[in-house]
Amino acid sequence: MSAALLDGKALSARMRERLGQEAAALPRQPGLAVILVGDNPASAVYVRNKEKDCAQCGVRCLNHHLPAETTQQELLALVEDMNRREDVDGILVQLPLPTQIDADKVIRAIAPEKDVDGFHPQNVGALCIGQPGFVSCTPAGIIELLKRSGIEIAGKECVIIGRSNIVGKPMALLMLRENATVTITHSKTKDLKDVCKRADILIVAIGKPQMITEEYVKEGAVVIDVGIHRREEGLCGDVDFERVSEHCSYITPVPGGVGPMTIAMLMRNCV
Ligand code: NAD
Repeated sequence: MSAALLDGKALSARMRERLGQEAAALPRQPGLAVILVGDNPASAVYVRNKEKDCAQCGVRCLNHHLPAETTQQELLALVEDMNRREDVDGILVQLPLPTQIDADKVIRAIAPEKDVDGFHPQNVGALCIGQPGFVSCTPAGIIELLKRSGIEIAGKECVIIGRSNIVGKPMALLMLRENATVTITHSKTKDLKDVCKRADILIVAIGKPQMITEEYVKEGAVVIDVGIHRREEGLCGDVDFERVSEHCSYITPVPGGVGPMTIAMLMRNCV
């Protein structure tokens, strides 16, 4: 392997320690309401991890685990209740939600000033026009990781694979804010390999295990792998790490790259 690792795990640990100190100095302990509906096993793991991270950062975690048959009205009533509570600073509704619930409606019901996930249209709009607001945690964590690793963004060619509302689109807006030249690609993009090969910074959020090989990567590029996939052998990303790390200058490992940075940003938003 010739690439240097972008160690999100170590950076996230340092940031969380600092946040713990900041939280301890506040007049009141910050509170995060975490709402989980149903029994999706991956969501249950994420929620358990968030509980641990909250404890480490001095954030009080108020867990609400609702049954799978919860109605939209019941969930909206709980969100309203959390909006009103003064000891709740952040509200996180774990996605995906069961099919009887309209996730967009639930996201819109969260008070924008408690929307620590940065998914509310008001926060997304603020990001779009360069105003302050909460920013989606995964893209915000990637910017932090790049900057703190001394990687210059301004003027660089950045190609993003994936156009989801939670990763691809806010990622593009943030890279634009940092003065990169940004290209967004997706499942209908023609000649994906050629487009990706233009990138100085390639950000991959496709949701397809190890799809991106060295054929998509310019020699010496920086490669950020957002994907997370559980396999019997362990976790892997959207990037074929073994092959790509021979060709690029920096790469995020999975696990230990983008994932821990997402958590650090969530905790920062809460504090
Ligand atoms: P998504 O399914 O909502 O979006 C995937 C995007 O990839 C779509 O825009 C689609 O157009 C594009 N795409 C699909 N197939 C393609 C192809 N063959 N060529 C080009 N583009 C293609 O996914 P998402 O929510 O953005 O998540 C992407 C991945 O990142 C998943 O593996 C997810 O688990 C992971 N994820 C990780 C974190 C983290 O903290 N590390 C956070 C969010 C998501």
